[in-house]
Amino acid sequence: MEKIRANREAAAGAAIGLTVAAAAATYYVIKRSNSRVRPNGKFPLETLPNDAYDAVIVGAGPSGSTCAHFLASAGARVALLDKETFPRDKYCGDAVCTPGLNILEEMGVLKELVDNNEAHFADSGGFVSPSGLTYIGQSKERLGGAAACAVKRTNLDKRIAWKARHVGAELKEGFEVGKENPTFDKQTGLWMVKSTEGKTVKGRVLVIADGATSKLAMQMGYCTEPPKGVCSRAFIEGGTHNVDFDGVCFYQRESLPGYSAIFRHPNDELNFCYYLIPCGKDGMCGDVSEADLKRLHEGALKSDPFISQAVGPNAKVERMKAAALRLGSQGVPSSYDDHLLIIGDAAGHIDPLTGEGIHTALMGGKAAAQTILDMRAAGDYSKLSTRIYEQRWMKAFGHDFAFSKKGAELIYKYPILLDACANEMQRVGDSMMTKWAEVMTNMRPKTYFLRPDVAIPMGFAIVRELWAQNVSKRPDLYKTGSSL
Ligand SMILES: Cc1cc2nc3c(=O)[nH]c(=O)nc-3n(C[C@H](O)[C@H](O)[C@H](O)COP(=O)(O)OP(=O)(O)OC[C@H]3O[C@@H](n4cnc5c(N)ncnc54)[C@H](O)[C@@H]3O)c2cc1C
Repeated sequence: MEKIRANREAAAGAAIGLTVAAAAATYYVIKRSNSRVRPNGKFPLETLPNDAYDAVIVGAGPSGSTCAHFLASAGARVALLDKETFPRDKYCGDAVCTPGLNILEEMGVLKELVDNNEAHFADSGGFVSPSGLTYIGQSKERLGGAAACAVKRTNLDKRIAWKARHVGAELKEGFEVGKENPTFDKQTGLWMVKSTEGKTVKGRVLVIADGATSKLAMQMGYCTEPPKGVCSRAFIEGGTHNVDFDGVCFYQRESLPGYSAIFRHPNDELNFCYYLIPCGKDGMCGDVSEADLKRLHEGALKSDPFISQAVGPNAKVERMKAAALRLGSQGVPSSYDDHLLIIGDAAGHIDPLTGEGIHTALMGGKAAAQTILDMRAAGDYSKLSTRIYEQRWMKAFGHDFAFSKKGAELIYKYPILLDACANEMQRVGDSMMTKWAEVMTNMRPKTYFLRPDVAIPMGFAIVRELWAQNVSKRPDLYKTGSSL
C-alpha cells in the first residue's frame, strides 16, 4: 500500500514537473516568436518591382535620415523625401545627448561634424533651481566623455541626410507630400506616395517621419491631436556675451515643469531656448501656456537675474523663433500598421521631462530600419511584424516616458525637489551632478533616482531645504537677484 502511494506521488510530481516545463517552453517559444517578424510572408524580396523602393520615408530630419542610412547601408532601396532642400534650419535647442552621439558616431557623421568644427562637446554645466540655488560642475572626466554636444541643426540634419544619400538612399528634396493621402494596393503590397507637384514614388513600407505637427499622421488618422508642448530658440552671437559655461538649465518657478537653457556652440555662439512642457490642466504647461512663451523668453533674457547677467547688456540676440513639441507619444496611440511605421517627433518620441528628442529620433530611426530589414528578409510586412518596431523603441527609450511624465508632475507640484537636487550637488559636488546629467540625457533610466543610494541622500537634502526655506528663511535668490 505504502509503495503504491509513493509511486502515485512520484508520478504526480513528474506530471507537475512536465506540465511546468511544457508551459515554460511554450511561454519561451511564444515570447520568442512575439519578438520576431513573421517568416514566409506574402512579399518576398523578388516581388519588389524595379520601379519601387523597400521603404519610402517622408521627412529627412534626424529620424528619417537615420532610418534611411541604416536601410541603405544594408542594401535596401530607399526613397528619402523632404519638402525642403538641405541645408535647412530647424528650430531646436541643438543639444544632442550621448545615446544619439553614439549613433552619429556609428554612421560616421560625428567625425564629419568634428572635422568641420560644427560640434561643441559640453563639459562645464549645471542648473539653477526654482529658489535660485546654482551648481555648475565639470562632467566630461567623470563620465568619460561629454553627456551632450551642441550642433546647429542646419549642420546636423544636412550631414545625416547627405550621409544617407552617400550610402545609397535616394534623397528627393523639394518633394512635399501633399494633402492627398498615400494609397496602398493590397494586391501588390505597395504604397503610392504623391508630391504636391504630382510626382509619385512607390514602396513596400511607408515611414512617416515628418516631425511634431505630422500632417501626414494626422490626415491618415494615426495621430489624433495637435502637439501640446512648445519651445523657443534664439541664437546669440559669439563675442557679444559673458557666458563661460557649456550648458545650464534654468528652472524658473513660474513655468515649471518647463525650463530655459543656454547651450554653447563652436565659435562662442550660444543657443537660448525656453521649453514649455505639458502638465496639469489640458492645454496648459503647468501654470502657463503657449500664449506666454514670448513673454517668458524675452523676460528671461531681460530680467532673469542669472540669465541677464550671463548674457550681458551687449549681446546680439536673434529674434525668437518657436516650434511645437509632441512629447511622450502624445496623440499617437500606435506607431505601426500594415506596411507602415511612424518615427521621431511624428510618433511623439520626445522625452516628457526634458523636451529632448534628437537622440530618440536617432534611436527610433535605427530601430525602424532594423525592423524593416528583418521584414524584408522574411517577406512579411503585416502588423504582426511592424509591431516589433514598437517593442524595440519601447525597450530602447519608451519605457522611460511614464516616469518622465511623473517626474514633470512632481517638479511642477513640488519645486523643492529641484532645490534639493541643487542642495545635494552643492554638498557632494560633481558626483551628484553627473548622476543628474546621466538621467537627463537618457544614459540611465529615470528610476535611477529611486535607487536607495540616490533616494536616501535626496531625502536628507529635501529635509535640509525644508528647513532652509521654512525655518531659517533663506532668501529666494531668484527674487533677491544673483548671478552664476
Ligand atoms: C525649439 C525646440 C528646441 C528643441 N531642443 C532640443 C534639444 O536641445 N535637444 C533635443 O534632443 N531635442 C530638442 N528638440 C526636439 C527635436 O528638435 C526633435 O525631437 C527632432 O527634431 C525630431 O526629429 P525628426 O526627424 O523626428 O523631425 P524633424 O526634425 O522635425 O524633421 C521632419 C522633417 O520632415 C520634413 N517634412 C515635414 N512635412 C513634410 C511633408 N509633407 N513632405 C515632405 N517632408 C516633410 C521637414 O522638412 C523636416 O525636414 C527641440 C524642439 C524644439 C521645437
